[in-house]
Amino acid sequence: MSYRITLLPGDGIGPEVSSAMQKCVDATGVDILWEEVMVGAPAIAQHGTPLPQAAIDSIKKNKVAIKGPIETPVGKGFRSVNVQLRQELDLFACVRPARYIEGTQAVNKNVNLMIFRENTEDLYSGVEFDQGSPEASQLISLVNSFPGKKVRPDSSISIKPISAFGSERIIRAAFEYAVNHGRKKVSLVHKANIMKYTDGLFLHTGRKMAEEYAGRVVFEDVIVDNMCMQLVQRPENYDVLVLTNLYGDIISDLCAGLVGGLGLAPGANIGTAAALFEPVHGSAPKYAGLNKVNPTATILSAVMMLDHIGEAVAARRLETAVFDVIRAGKDVTYDLKSDRNDVSAVGTKEMAQAICQRIKALGN
Ligand code: NAD
Repeated sequence: MSYRITLLPGDGIGPEVSSAMQKCVDATGVDILWEEVMVGAPAIAQHGTPLPQAAIDSIKKNKVAIKGPIETPVGKGFRSVNVQLRQELDLFACVRPARYIEGTQAVNKNVNLMIFRENTEDLYSGVEFDQGSPEASQLISLVNSFPGKKVRPDSSISIKPISAFGSERIIRAAFEYAVNHGRKKVSLVHKANIMKYTDGLFLHTGRKMAEEYAGRVVFEDVIVDNMCMQLVQRPENYDVLVLTNLYGDIISDLCAGLVGGLGLAPGANIGTAAALFEPVHGSAPKYAGLNKVNPTATILSAVMMLDHIGEAVAARRLETAVFDVIRAGKDVTYDLKSDRNDVSAVGTKEMAQAICQRIKALGN
């Protein structure tokens, strides 16, 4: 069977890790026709926008896509292309595994977590008003007209919408994953002690849904600041985590740090109409074009993609090849060496070549 898959290389280190991933996937023998579409900085230069309509159309048509990271200007400039893609395609479930891989410089070996991050709401919904804008002033006047509410007139405003619909579908995805993959516990992460209505709704939805899964999956809730400390000290106590958008973003990086860094953390954005796979890490501009960074996160995102399209045998072969190369510790990038200045570290391309050779050695 052949597949047509959209490939968005992105910018910064994106093209390098995407090309490494593509070679490794092709080495499994799965017949993929890659439909490459430009996004991010190269698309601005050519089309005047970081997210050309062609990218959205291609993903809608093919229903499966994989992308490299895309830079987002901080505090100014265009809106995150990543957030726009997730919202435009309603890719509501951001699924990010974090687990120990033998041979890595992991802070803690007892990590085997599956993170479910809500991907379309919360402070990432893009409902923001700049300080001094007529919209911000209007909103501040409205809020200040309510009894007991006081917002300073020189404030910028970001709105945090959390809906019952959005909460239900991501929490359901986490419970269903737990049931279907023999996971024992779902931990819902929140700050409902302070945000009683938004995080409160998320928590209330989880508690209610937990009743349906009683006897099959244990449910607990943990306040987000405590969760950060618990994950650093006792990650083995956790299994499946479900979080709203912002906490999910932050906790994913924390968990990536626990297992040896962002170079090892894959991810998927799943909706009902399409799925978009991408590493957790960003475009790491300081490493762009240096053939230096670790391609593992993007290759393991492709493993998730192969599972998603039903190519489980190829997925296991690719995953085994990656794990074997990391365990052997020879043909790996600088971040996988115990000394990051180790001159024997190889580049992105060379690590991908070693994985391709291992795939061939593993046979069918
Ligand atoms: P980053 O993830 O790009 O990099 C942070 C650090 O992590 C790097 O300096 C490097 O030390 C390490 N790192 C990242 N990827 C690595 C890899 N493959 N191998 C080895 N080490 C790796 O985070 P940042 O510097 O905060 O963000 C840079 C840009 O990326 C920003 O514009 C940000 O908005 C964007 N970003 C994009 C995405 C995405 O496309 N989904 C995600 C996160 C950040």
